[in-house]
Amino acid sequence: MNLGLQDKVAIVAASSKGLGKAVAKALAMEGAKLALCARGESTLFATAEEIRANTGVRVLAQTVDVRHAEQVSQFVERTRREFGGVDICVTNAGGPPAKTFAETTLEDWRAAVELNLMSCIHFAREVLPLMQKQRWGRFIAITSASVKQPIDRLILSNSIRSAVSGLIKSLANEYAQDNVLVNSVCPGYTLTDRLAQLSEKMAAAEGVEASAIQTRWADQIPLHRLGLPEEFASAVAFLASERASYITGASLAVDGGWIKGIY
Ligand code: NAD
Repeated sequence: MNLGLQDKVAIVAASSKGLGKAVAKALAMEGAKLALCARGESTLFATAEEIRANTGVRVLAQTVDVRHAEQVSQFVERTRREFGGVDICVTNAGGPPAKTFAETTLEDWRAAVELNLMSCIHFAREVLPLMQKQRWGRFIAITSASVKQPIDRLILSNSIRSAVSGLIKSLANEYAQDNVLVNSVCPGYTLTDRLAQLSEKMAAAEGVEASAIQTRWADQIPLHRLGLPEEFASAVAFLASERASYITGASLAVDGGWIKGIY
C-alpha cells in the first residue's frame, strides 16, 4: 500500500528516542520530511543524523521544551519557513510520575497538565491554522492505554491524558470541515528505554529480575508480549497517511489487546 506520504512535512514532538523516534523513522521511511524536537541536544541531533543517513530525507532538529508555548511557536514557524508548510503533527512528551492520589501534590497536578495537556494545545494552536489554510492536515496525539482502562498508581496519566482525548475528539469535530483529521493513538506496554527503566526500578524494589516484571506485564496481554516501538509507529504512520482519509476523532489502542473493554 502506498501511504502517499512522500514529501509531506511532518512534525514529531519529543522524538529523540522511544515512541516519538520510532514514529519519526516510520514517516521518514515513507519519504516524509521531518521536523524533530526534544529537550536534550545530543540525543536529538544523533537521532536526526541517524534518520538522515538511513533514509535520505530532510530532517530539521531543534531543542524545544514542549511545555513552553513560545518555544513550540518558534519551532513550528521555523518548520514552516524551511519546508514551506506543515502537513502532519504528532504530539508527544515525557510521562508524568507514577503516584497514588494520596501521594500526588498540587504541584504534581499542575506539572502534569503542563507536560501532557498544554503541550498538545501549544502544538494545536500553531499548526491547525496552517493545516486549515491548505485544507489538508493530520494532527495525532500520543496518549496512553490508560485513557481507556485506568492503571493503578498512574492517577496523573489516567486523568490528564483523558483530557487530551476530550480535546482531540472536539478538535476532530471542529476541523473536519477543513479536511484536517485529528486522532489519538494509545500505546499499551511498549518496549522503549522508559519501560525498560521502569521494569528495572520495580524489580529492584521487589528483589526480582527486570525480566520477571516484564513477564508479569506480558501475562496481562492477550498477545503475551510487550509491543515494539515500530509496531506502534506503523499505526501512527497509517493515520498520518492519505489512506486514512475517512478516519477522524478516533482513539486507537495499540496494546496487544490489553484493554479489556469493548470500545
Ligand atoms: P521515552 O522516555 O523513551 O521518550 C520520551 C521522549 O520525550 C524523549 O525523546 C524525551 O527527550 C522527550 N521529552 C520528555 N519531556 C520533554 C519535554 N518537556 N519537551 C520535549 N521533549 C520531551 O518515553 P516513551 O516510552 O517513548 O513514551 C512516550 C510517551 O508515551 C510518554 O508520555 C509515555 O508516558 C507514554 N506512554 C508510553 C508507554 C510505553 O509503554 N512506552 C505506554 C503508555 C504511554
